[in-house]
Amino acid sequence: MLSLDFTNTVDDRLSDQPTDSLTSYERFLDWAVQKNITERATADKLAEAETDPEQALNRVRELRELLYRLLSAAAGKKRVAEEDLDSFNGYLAEAMSNIRITQKDGGFDWYCCPGCSGSESVLYPIVKSAADLLVSAQLDRIRVCADPQCGWLFLDSSRNRSRRWCSMESCGNRAKARRFYQRHQQNQGEQEL
Ligand SMILES: [Zn+2]
Repeated sequence: MLSLDFTNTVDDRLSDQPTDSLTSYERFLDWAVQKNITERATADKLAEAETDPEQALNRVRELRELLYRLLSAAAGKKRVAEEDLDSFNGYLAEAMSNIRITQKDGGFDWYCCPGCSGSESVLYPIVKSAADLLVSAQLDRIRVCADPQCGWLFLDSSRNRSRRWCSMESCGNRAKARRFYQRHQQNQGEQEL
């Protein structure tokens, strides 16, 4: 899900040394192309036209941190700060006034109006995805990964709602290795006694 993927562009968020994979505005645009929210040619044009890429990156990160606060509060069943809600509604109002629907075979799709080709337009689909998630029935399936350092958000679509890790391959295995190591240490301790 786009809004969750966006918040997950920081690794080990809860550790002392979080790693931000959006290290530049261009990296953000690469990510946006990869997520199909903009086309390569548009992204290249935006990168070229941006006079202050550092500030543009700051805006991207600001939105990401705002979404993280909103969605992780939802995961913890907490109320969000009014201030954050106001900021989000500001983003939403702007996004919604620029998003249109278009007809395609067998249905409709969202698109940004031709006039809104500025750098902000790349953020609109992310904002809309977050709003859709916040008002959806899936809200109570948002989880924060149980790894003490990871901090990634995910949707728990397991039937008994028992998924704990963002991914079994990374954090799930990390936990398994930790348990194995602890058991091993314990066994060794017992042998030495
Ligand atoms: Zn994780």
